[in-house]
Amino acid sequence: MKEHISMISNNDIVLNLNKFKSSIPENVTLIAVSKFQSVEKIKMAYEAGHRDFGENYVQEMKEKYEQLPKDIRWHFIGHLQANKVKYIVPFVHLIHSVDSLKLLTEIHKHALKHQRIIDCLLQIHIAKEETKFGLSFEEARALLFSDIIKTFSNVRIKGLMGMATLTDDGEQIKNEFLSLKHFFDEINAQKISDNVQFEELSIGMSNDYKIAIECGSTMIRIGTAIFGERQKT
Ligand SMILES: *Cc1c(COP(=O)(O)O)cnc(C)c1O
Repeated sequence: MKEHISMISNNDIVLNLNKFKSSIPENVTLIAVSKFQSVEKIKMAYEAGHRDFGENYVQEMKEKYEQLPKDIRWHFIGHLQANKVKYIVPFVHLIHSVDSLKLLTEIHKHALKHQRIIDCLLQIHIAKEETKFGLSFEEARALLFSDIIKTFSNVRIKGLMGMATLTDDGEQIKNEFLSLKHFFDEINAQKISDNVQFEELSIGMSNDYKIAIECGSTMIRIGTAIFGERQKT
């Protein structure tokens, strides 16, 4: 017989959060990835003092935003379609997954409308798997050095995001993260535009965050290691 062992108590959530907070360096932001997790679980983490949450789906993030305290910092980490940008621009804290000029143009347009400055990261494809979204280093360079970026007064490009290949091979994961860190340093050494200010390197998930921190991560995105298995409804 198959047992359901995916239950995790609210107490566990707080314990897991505290375990992370006491073990990661101070300059690393812990983003609790709450996709497919209940509002109740998010509230538990919130009441324990946590404020940074990550979501992958526009509709889900918007619904949770509406139900939860307004000082939560919502990180959008999933694939973002240009036609859905308008729903998150009013409240999003940081968009980690910018992967085209078209998308950035749309974010700027809605940011202007809402008189907000939207912080973004460029998502770079570093994994071997073809299914993962993101720009190549070449495409990211082309985007960063395009003249139009300078005219985007209401977006700030704050750094890079990447996902390593899903593998047990720690060396491979490390090499992928380091390739991103090197690109980060390359861009950071240049003066591109006032709205390109690299500060954040968003790498590391439940399975590879320790390697990511060794490789210079400033933001880790942790889902299952905090909340347990996701409940896909
Ligand atoms: C789901 C997701 C995470 C969290 O993954 P876990 O393995 O549950 O920690 C982090 N980043 C992105 C982009 C995700 O889609």
